[in-house]
Amino acid sequence: METLKEHFILSRYLGIREINIHIGGKYDSKEKTKKRFVENMRRYFSREELNYITIENDELNYSIKDVLEVAQELQIRVTYDIHHERCFQIGKEIDEEQLFLEVQKTWKDFTYQRVHLSSPRYGYSTSYKSRPHSDYIDKDDFPKWIKKYKNVHIDIEAKAKELAVKDICNFF
Ligand SMILES: [Zn+2]
Repeated sequence: METLKEHFILSRYLGIREINIHIGGKYDSKEKTKKRFVENMRRYFSREELNYITIENDELNYSIKDVLEVAQELQIRVTYDIHHERCFQIGKEIDEEQLFLEVQKTWKDFTYQRVHLSSPRYGYSTSYKSRPHSDYIDKDDFPKWIKKYKNVHIDIEAKAKELAVKDICNFF
């Protein structure tokens, strides 16, 4: 929490309006950790500081549903990492557009919504093995439904960075 406090000071100085974090490990129990996380965030941060924070879903511990629950309690935004959710829900059908719309509600006071996108380096197999990011975004991993939404900031989490972004522009 101390490091996060330092981030705020730095963010204000740099004019950054977003600090993206993960909930972290599951520790004794997932439900208890979520509760503790909410309590700690309320204890350590002011309302103004909380408005800077976005929480992101991860591949192994906290799905979008978990993160949304926590975010709704704290009234903060969610960064939807599409690849992480695909890893988390491996083998299951996901209605990604529906999830996106649920998450969008947390961005209602902002002019944009941020999402993360990446492709698995070794394809989708198990949650754990699918985690490493590929150099580029596989065309099939790009969610086609997202094109109809305006003001979506898609962060491309790919090793080849700019080249991957250039490549993805061809999908439009
Ligand atoms: Zn991400």
